[in-house]
Formats: sequence, C-alpha cells, structure tokens
Amino acid sequence: MSSVNDALENARFTYEQHMRTCRQCHADAAPCAVAKHLLRLYNLARRDRMRAAGPNTPTA
Ligand SMILES: [Zn+2]
Repeated sequence: MSSVNDALENARFTYEQHMRTCRQCHADAAPCAVAKHLLRLYNLARRDRMRAAGPNTPTA
C-alpha cells in the first residue's frame, strides 16, 4: 500500500545523501553522472506516485 511512497522516499534519500557526500558534485558545482541517474530515478518514482494518487484518491 505504501510501497510507492517508500520507493519515492528511498529514491529521494539516496539522491540527497549522494549530493551531501559526493566530492565530484561539489567540485564541479554540477551533478555528476551518478547524481543525474539518481535524480532520474527520483523523478520516475515521483511520477509513479502522481499516477498512483490519481484524481480519485481520497486525501482525508
Ligand atoms: Zn555526484
């Protein structure tokens, strides 16, 4: 039930942790190949959640 959310949280956590710890991202002031890959996974997970949520999902 919350597996989509977990995937999103996991992807975001992995990406944020990379941005905190990656020397290359800091040295270049631009995302390295790994960062781009992780960001892509994060965007995909976010899109999946949007689709899973849909217009009919009760929010309250
Ligand atoms: Zn990096």
